[in-house]
Amino acid sequence: MKAAVFYSKDDVHIEDIPKPSIGPGELLLKVAAVGLCGSDIDKIMYEAVPPGTVLGHEVVGTVAVLGEGVESFRIGERVVVAHHAACEECHYCVCGSFSKCSLFRSTNLHPGGFAEFIRVPEPNVRLVAFAIPDDIAYERIIFTEPLACCVRAIERTRLQPGDIVLIIGMGAIGLLFTQLVKLQGAKVIGSDPLTDRLEFAKGFGADVVINPSLDPLEDLVREATEGRGVDTIISTVASQPVLDQALSLVRDGGMIHFFAGKRGGLNVSLDINELYEREVGIITTYSSSPRALREAFRLIAEGEIRTEELISHRMPLSEVLEGVRMMVRHEARKVYFEVAP
Ligand SMILES: [Zn+2]
Ligand SMILES: [Zn+2]
Repeated sequence: MKAAVFYSKDDVHIEDIPKPSIGPGELLLKVAAVGLCGSDIDKIMYEAVPPGTVLGHEVVGTVAVLGEGVESFRIGERVVVAHHAACEECHYCVCGSFSKCSLFRSTNLHPGGFAEFIRVPEPNVRLVAFAIPDDIAYERIIFTEPLACCVRAIERTRLQPGDIVLIIGMGAIGLLFTQLVKLQGAKVIGSDPLTDRLEFAKGFGADVVINPSLDPLEDLVREATEGRGVDTIISTVASQPVLDQALSLVRDGGMIHFFAGKRGGLNVSLDINELYEREVGIITTYSSSPRALREAFRLIAEGEIRTEELISHRMPLSEVLEGVRMMVRHEARKVYFEVAP
């Protein structure tokens, strides 16, 4: 079968590799499409995985082979599946730290979503695979996993109706957050230095949008919050300037949520006494849970969250690097690779 194989940040190319075989309880999925995630882009640009790796994990496709004993799916059925499956029973899962679950960390799709076929392990079949209703397009439901990561971040944020939330970064993830925050009855201020993203964000429910490189964000936040500062900040980028700005814009007792890290590491400075005296919380989230995946699937299936308009580019799998470069240059909002349309 064909797969797009990573060798370096300048070399990801199509190769013939063996089609995976499956065992009891597993599925062989014929991949229809795979989304390009920010983590794929990072792993390629920072060359953070070994040469020969097949990346990609936002997959949809049809069941090609059923493993022995699988009764919850049938051949030809359209399926969306996540790459990691938390057990929902261990200490970490019970405490909500699903990404630290040993089953979560040991499960993955093989060889990876940038391929014609993938083996779906038994825990993923059991916990994080969903049959797609006939009337729901792949281009909508492929957002199940990225949306689930945002759903879990919102669960961990504990918003109140009427809260004012500043979302930093109005790319595809920022637009998913915008819709989730609105569903909680909170208000959204959307910030992005790319003006064309801001108009688009209004269409997804952002109450106020601002380009912080053109207009002072501080003034807008002060006006919108009677001088208090925003209740919560969700940032899709992590840097010292963003942290400094977030600390100046969040209200006393508020929360800064980083839905982003910095591959390779980034030491930032912050005044621990300021955090202490202002009781400002800092939290991070990077992944989903089975519960968040079920909720994300439902939100998309029932039309509560709009996703299909987020895809800006459809490409063949042979153009993985081109898709990565377009995302890095901010020329694409979301890249969708058509594998077997
Ligand atoms: Zn991802
Ligand atoms: Zn667990």
